[in-house]
Amino acid sequence: MLWILCSLLCCGLIARELLGAWRGDRPDPVYPPYVIVLTLLAAGFAWPPFSTWQFERFLEQKARLLTEGRKVSVHCNTLFDSLFDPEMLAAGHANLESGKIVIQTPWCGVLRSYLDAPEDADGEAIFSLSLFTHEVMHIRGERNEAATECQAIQYYARMARLLGVPGGLADAHAQHNYREIYLVHRSNAGDNFRHYFSSECAPGKALDLRLSDSVW
Ligand SMILES: [Zn+2]
Repeated sequence: MLWILCSLLCCGLIARELLGAWRGDRPDPVYPPYVIVLTLLAAGFAWPPFSTWQFERFLEQKARLLTEGRKVSVHCNTLFDSLFDPEMLAAGHANLESGKIVIQTPWCGVLRSYLDAPEDADGEAIFSLSLFTHEVMHIRGERNEAATECQAIQYYARMARLLGVPGGLADAHAQHNYREIYLVHRSNAGDNFRHYFSSECAPGKALDLRLSDSVW
């Protein structure tokens, strides 16, 4: 929002300069360097929100491939957005009725950096894709958190491939997400997070989706 306001302010100054000269409000002609600098600033301020908008549409397009035709929209919250988000403490959340997925700052940025260079991914980057996949699993119709998280574990590699992560890395990161993040956190989960995990999330157990490209 702040970037857009700055861009609009620059556009307003350009309009004032051009209209002023056109109407003859002042004796000076248009000063080209001033207009060029303002144009560059307007474009520069507009780029971050435009780039985020493009990324959100990209995520939506790929998520739709896993939600079997259900409507889905993705919004990357800015810090300003988060201030007015009733679920600001959740890294992400999804509304099954509207199909809207919200990812809090900084997780969209982390996911984007991961997709730009998946070969450099650390644990946080790998988790960012797990977080997005979790919200997509909600949109598929699952409300139970443990079942949703277990589905995200199993769909991780497929989602990674859809988002452009090379196959070998997608499989390796799915393994890391399951063994180093999910299983470790399941063992150590406190009361606030225990409902995200289940002992039934394992091969042959109740939450096994038996996917051909599952993590196990
Ligand atoms: Zn959830």
